Amino acid sequence: MDYRVVQMDEHTWRIEEFDDTSSVYMYLLEGSERAMLLDSGLGMIPLDEITAELTSLPVDVLATHAHLDHIGGNSFFEKVYINELDREVFSLHCDKFRSHYPDYQFRGQRDNIIWYTGEKEFQLGGRTLRLVSSPGHTLGAVSILDVERKWLFTGDTCCQASVLLNLEYTTTVETYKRTIERLLSIGEQYDLTWPAHHKIPVSPEILEQFREAADLLLDKKAEGEDIEMPFGPAKCFYYKDISITYTPDRVFDRNDA
Ligand SMILES: [Zn+2]
Repeated sequence: MDYRVVQMDEHTWRIEEFDDTSSVYMYLLEGSERAMLLDSGLGMIPLDEITAELTSLPVDVLATHAHLDHIGGNSFFEKVYINELDREVFSLHCDKFRSHYPDYQFRGQRDNIIWYTGEKEFQLGGRTLRLVSSPGHTLGAVSILDVERKWLFTGDTCCQASVLLNLEYTTTVETYKRTIERLLSIGEQYDLTWPAHHKIPVSPEILEQFREAADLLLDKKAEGEDIEMPFGPAKCFYYKDISITYTPDRVFDRNDA
């Protein structure tokens, strides 16, 4: 595993963790009193030392969701905020970590997790982070509005790629569409989105594409093609710059719809 740090402005950095096959972005947001690290990546790089070089302020972690490539470095930090709705997927992925990366000495999780419910706001000192519930890719996924900068950090909810709704603890396409509509409804509050993978930054216009694609599936005007994923068979609907990967039994909230 390797990494690089990219400074985004005077008080914001992106830490990119990667190897030959995958990469994930973490974002370090500094206020005047505290700093918040959005996600902790795979945990295969010395995140405590890396963040300490960037800021002298205390650093907490806020997870966009509890998949293994977003929680791996949790144990480096004193406080990690994770949505209560991701508790089960968190347990599952702590185990998965071991099977995915057998050679890696996983530090394991420690008793530093703050399970919160609802939508929180964090004050970092002159910098406000507002959480927006974003169920879809996981039940407890959140987007994070960096209020003063008008940035939206979207985790895996709307990368310019495929949104994966075919995993354990993902929601239906219908629920995901409500998330996208909610994010679009506050569209005047952000100018750019910063996902955790793939192309960055991403224009908010990409959310319109996800809404249109979800509408086509829900109106039965389109259907994904059959694909084989490591997690089993799924369908993938390619639309403009994005796609939605889903399973046929999880399109509608009510299966008789
Ligand atoms: Zn994920």
